[in-house]
Amino acid sequence: MTELVKGKVTKSTIYFCPECGSASLTMRGTAFVEDGQSLAKFSCNVCNWSGGRQDVAAMDVSHEMGSDEEMVRTLITDLKNLLAQKTGVYFAHFLTKWGFLNGTNKSNNTLLLAKYLAVISRKIIEALLLERAEIEKKRINDERKS
Ligand SMILES: [Zn+2]
Repeated sequence: MTELVKGKVTKSTIYFCPECGSASLTMRGTAFVEDGQSLAKFSCNVCNWSGGRQDVAAMDVSHEMGSDEEMVRTLITDLKNLLAQKTGVYFAHFLTKWGFLNGTNKSNNTLLLAKYLAVISRKIIEALLLERAEIEKKRINDERKS
């Protein structure tokens, strides 16, 4: 996956909730510090904590995935390529069987199959990211109970 954006290093900061440790925080305003103060407000998507920049733990990270949006696009493209290579023929049979493709226009079917695989990949990644957030929420709630 990193080969797609090789050599491009992005530095970013990950913030953690002081209450539950989750990295699933929503930030409003800018995190940049000016005159020793940051006006950013954070709220936790897991435990509903909210507060300022001074309350959250921050970790600087470097990665070669571009921005967060680029990373998600790369993830979707990687899955789309995997599905096309490993299951493209089976998806084509499935989509033909259920009337999403018709057997008469092969080049049009190839374009449609590519579109369907792109949207399938995007929706799978969206579902995957939501599920991971739910799993993290549950893990943190379970840790609090014990
Ligand atoms: Zn939290």
